[in-house]
Amino acid sequence: MRAPGFFLAANAKMESLPPVSHKVLAQKKYLFTPGPAPVPPEVLLAMARPMIHHRTPEFSKVLDSVRENLKPLFGTRHEIILLSSSGTGAMEAAVTNLIAPGEHAVFVNGGKFGERWSKMLSAHGAVPHEIKVEWGRAVRPEQIDEALRAHQEARAVFMQASETSTCAVHPVAEAGAVTRRHGVMLIVDGITSVGVFEQKMDEWGIDALVTGSQKALMLPPGLGIIALSPVAFERAQKLKTPRFYFDLPRELKAQRDEHTTAFTPAVPLIFGLHESLSLIQNETLHHVYARHRLMAAAARAAAPALHLRLIAPDNPAPGVTGILTPEGFDGSALVRLMRDELGVSVQGGQDQMKGKLVRIGHMGYLAPFDMLVAVSALEIGLARLGYRFEAGAGVAAAQAVIAQGT
Ligand SMILES: *Cc1c(COP(=O)(O)O)cnc(C)c1O
Repeated sequence: MRAPGFFLAANAKMESLPPVSHKVLAQKKYLFTPGPAPVPPEVLLAMARPMIHHRTPEFSKVLDSVRENLKPLFGTRHEIILLSSSGTGAMEAAVTNLIAPGEHAVFVNGGKFGERWSKMLSAHGAVPHEIKVEWGRAVRPEQIDEALRAHQEARAVFMQASETSTCAVHPVAEAGAVTRRHGVMLIVDGITSVGVFEQKMDEWGIDALVTGSQKALMLPPGLGIIALSPVAFERAQKLKTPRFYFDLPRELKAQRDEHTTAFTPAVPLIFGLHESLSLIQNETLHHVYARHRLMAAAARAAAPALHLRLIAPDNPAPGVTGILTPEGFDGSALVRLMRDELGVSVQGGQDQMKGKLVRIGHMGYLAPFDMLVAVSALEIGLARLGYRFEAGAGVAAAQAVIAQGT
């Protein structure tokens, strides 16, 4: 049935079918949110294993293995610490273990998650200094340099590698060159970066790199993961800030020296992580990154074909693509319609971008062809809400990218 506003290419013919309930389209659910992301069946099965105790040689073996096999994703030779929390818990652990109340820190505010650093720093009595970045833009290394000159008492710079709310990446390697020069720590939220594109924690001079399980690691939510440089670890040991559950030196001592966790861990998620890391190893990280690049390129290609703009055209994130909805259009209604009537979950914009943005996540257990589903649903949703364009133009553009990329 031809939906209003849906125009077929001139040479296409359509068979006439009786109208169907939306349940026919929404029968199968597709998850394209920028976290949580889909979980592969191998991982679901691994998590369904009967429970074991976490103070056993059997658990220690799995824990040691995942801590070791995460290192290439972080680009580090240093220690990785698993926490039972969402990603925000690991971010908070970075704050409470590395910054004392009353200390100053610079943070990059280019979106919702940049803001979160500031809220956390304030909550723990630190003094955050903002580098304001327009939504969709990347911070410039000179801005970091200026901020550190203006706030010489700052101990650290907090930033995102990929700012999921604006679908933009920030130049972490360049930021690392600046923080090194100033002798301050660099603390990076890599929640939609680790496992999505290459991270070189040691080489870039990152002191703390954080991620969470429900993005590129192909797991359900519930694990926060943090890697610390030796400088950061030493500071965490020295600092006597109030902390208990997220005490990183104690947690590392348990994980590294006793091969278990300080408290009862999310055992099924760690089983799942063991499996997902084995899937990543089999695919190879090189191909994992190439797959994310291709998915992102395919999703992005749909925008101009539909006469729509990207929110971050100059520095787009490889894990999530943000397409601005047409002027005067209800983007929230579009996201709702796609989810409820088409079975395709994407995410809208937050705060100032509420109702103006569609974010298509492409992290973890997704493949380039999945982007055709996402773009097709976007097209049908746009058409149903009255936006006019050549039907299939976005899908064709995404497909062309995939065909070229293979
Ligand atoms: C998802 C996300 C978070 C929040 O992680 P939670 O697991 O929801 O706590 C933080 N930062 C970025 C960049 C994210 O994408």
